[in-house]
Amino acid sequence: MAPKLPIYMDNQATTAVDPRVLEAMLPYFSEKFGNAASRNHEFGWKAEEAVENARGQIARLIRANPREIVFTSGATESDNLAIKGVAEAYREKGNHIVTQATEHKAVLDACKRLEKYGCEVTSLPVAPDGLIDLDDLRRAITPKTILISIMQANNEIGVIQPVAEIGKIAREKKILFHVDAVQAVGKIPVDVQKDGIDLLSISAHKIYGPKGVGALFVRRKDPRVEISAIIDGGGHERGMRSGTLNVPGIVGLGKACEICQKEMPGESERLRRLRDKLKDAIMGRLDGTAVNGSMAHRLPNNLNLSFSGVEGDALLMGINDVAVSSGSACTSAMIEPSYVLRALGVSDDLSHSSIRFGLGRFNTEEEVDYVADRVVETVKRLRDLSPLYEAAKPRASR
Ligand SMILES: *Cc1c(COP(=O)(O)O)cnc(C)c1O
Repeated sequence: MAPKLPIYMDNQATTAVDPRVLEAMLPYFSEKFGNAASRNHEFGWKAEEAVENARGQIARLIRANPREIVFTSGATESDNLAIKGVAEAYREKGNHIVTQATEHKAVLDACKRLEKYGCEVTSLPVAPDGLIDLDDLRRAITPKTILISIMQANNEIGVIQPVAEIGKIAREKKILFHVDAVQAVGKIPVDVQKDGIDLLSISAHKIYGPKGVGALFVRRKDPRVEISAIIDGGGHERGMRSGTLNVPGIVGLGKACEICQKEMPGESERLRRLRDKLKDAIMGRLDGTAVNGSMAHRLPNNLNLSFSGVEGDALLMGINDVAVSSGSACTSAMIEPSYVLRALGVSDDLSHSSIRFGLGRFNTEEEVDYVADRVVETVKRLRDLSPLYEAAKPRASR
């Protein structure tokens, strides 16, 4: 049976709100509209209770204490708060931050801003499989290093960094460790205790919650992490993040975490099987395709493929009833190849003809079959039109 079109397969960009999440949120827009900071009436108490419940749901998913959860407007803010907050609070101790080349822009640009104010930033390279080298990390650390910021899983290529090993190095050297875990939370186990993580960023809209709400885990014990606020005001969230709490959004984030915790084992297995089916159905029928990034250290729901001998735009146009992302990004005026793929050493041409498939909770097997067929027929058609591809093909496969 033909699936309903268009098909959404861009779940690393955002996810649909789960109906169960929406249902949990709805009362907090209307009858339970109170301000969680209102201490002297029922409306405020109800809102506060809902916020504290959400704190518990989030903490359980990452093995934190509820008091270590600070609510934010999303992971861009969480990343900024972690990095700028540590840089300011620990400026007496040092001014050096270690990060890596394929971080999200929220991390890279926060670091770049700090460089303007005298911080030194080391951005570690990655190998062609997308992984950092732990010896590079050890060598980058100086007596001035105050923070290591390395993501758990990449948003373009799904590659999972060795956070437990990084956490161990950070502990040994007594350096704080921040992890952007936006893509990992709810997809693979995230454990701030086992992995020695001191700060961790979460976003609701990547885990079937609403947009515009996120959280930052800030460790309170062994060590007690200090961060300076970047938004000042009423002193909410123990002074770390002022501003009236987004109660419906927070309730949604909490519910999204609760569902992930319950359903993650089964859901990850299902998505891994669908992802592998998609990969086999495409790569088994087309030559000149390659996976970008490690397959072994990868989120179960991500596939990033390059197709040689086709124009990226033409490829996306050819499958325009399927929502995916390309290996190009529109900057101010030009189409630039993805900096993530470039960091892996993928050529600009191949980056432009790369596609990220992000599978999610609501994708079906029929959709995967349809997408594979569309990709295969489109690539074949475009290559037939391209004399360059014929000429470049190895003789045996002509
Ligand atoms: C989406 C994303 C962010 C930004 O999160 P927002 O809540 O959209 O601000 C940060 N890091 C990673 C890895 C992401 O995928």
